[in-house]
Amino acid sequence: MLISEIGEVQLIKGLTRDIFPDPEVVVTGIGDDAAAVKTAEDKLQLFTKDVLVEGIHFLRETISPWQLGRKSLAVNISDIAAMGGAPRHLLIAVALPSNTEVEWIEEFYRGMKDLCRICSINLIGGDTVRSPQGITISITLIGEVERERMLVRSGAREGDLVAVTGFLGASAAGLELLLQGLPSQNEWEKEVLKAHQEPPLRIKESRILSASGVVTSMIDLSDGLYKDLGEICSASGVGARIFASSLPISDATGRVCRHLTLDPVSLAVSGGEDYELLFTFSEENLARMKDLSGELEGKIIVIGKIVSKEEGLKIVDFQGEETKLTRKGFDHF
Ligand SMILES: [Mg+2]
Repeated sequence: MLISEIGEVQLIKGLTRDIFPDPEVVVTGIGDDAAAVKTAEDKLQLFTKDVLVEGIHFLRETISPWQLGRKSLAVNISDIAAMGGAPRHLLIAVALPSNTEVEWIEEFYRGMKDLCRICSINLIGGDTVRSPQGITISITLIGEVERERMLVRSGAREGDLVAVTGFLGASAAGLELLLQGLPSQNEWEKEVLKAHQEPPLRIKESRILSASGVVTSMIDLSDGLYKDLGEICSASGVGARIFASSLPISDATGRVCRHLTLDPVSLAVSGGEDYELLFTFSEENLARMKDLSGELEGKIIVIGKIVSKEEGLKIVDFQGEETKLTRKGFDHF
C-alpha cells in the first residue's frame, strides 16, 4: 500500500503505536500541540539535530528501512554521548513522496522505536509531510547530563593521552563494499557491512567516562579521526601525535582492505561514521583508565598523545617515522 492511500492521520496513528513515554517525565507527548517534559534542576539539557536527505546521506538501495530508522537515531545518540550525557526525548520529522510504501515507513519507525526502547528514549513528537521527491528525515534528540559531568572538546592539554572506544575504519570498509556493489558473502564482509549500517552505541562508555572525572575532552567519531581529532586540537589549542601501530583496525577490516586493495590506515584515519568516542586524559590517570577499560571489556584504546599546537597533527608510521597526519593517513611523497 502507498502512503497516499491512507492519509496522514491514519499513517501517524499506525507509526506511533506502541510507544511508551515515561509517564514520570513526559507530561504530554504525541497528541497535543506540543510535548511537555519535566527537567531536573541539577542537570543540563543537551540538544542535537541531524537531517538526512535521500541521495546525499543515504541510498534506499544500500540500507534497509529498519536499519535506517535505527541509524538515524543512533548518530544523534552518538552526539549526546560525546557530551557525556544520556539521551532522553526524541522528535522526528519525515518528508515522504506520496508513492512511498507504507511498509517502508513502518519498518523505518520500527528500527527507531526498537532503539528507543533499548535506550529509554521517549518519542514525544514530530511531523509527517509530503515531499515532491525523495525522503528527508530530521531528528531532534534531547539529552541530559549532570552539570559537573559534561565533557566538551576544549579541555585537552599537552601531555594528555588520546584514546578511542573501539575499532576504526570498519564502517568505511562496509561503505566501500556497498558502493562497489559487492555482495557480502563471508563473516568479515558481513561484519564491516554491519559496522556501517548498524553503528555502535556508546552510551554506557560515555556515562562511565563522564563519571570518571579524569576525561579532559571528548568528541564522537562521525567524520573520521583526522577531522574529529582536528576539532579537539583546534578547540583546545593543541596538536596531537597518533601512532599508526596503535590504531585499532579489526581483522575483518584488514581482510576487506586487502581484498579491495585499500589502505586500512587511511580508512581508520579519514573513513568516518565509526561512531566511537574519541577522548583525552592525563597520563597520570592511565592506571585509572585501565581499570575502567576492564569494566568496558577493553574498549579503551590509547592511540596517541596531545602535543603542543606548534607541533601540529602528526602520525608515527610503522617504521617509527613521524610525518604530518593527512586525510590519507600518511603521505611520504
Ligand atoms: Mg559529533
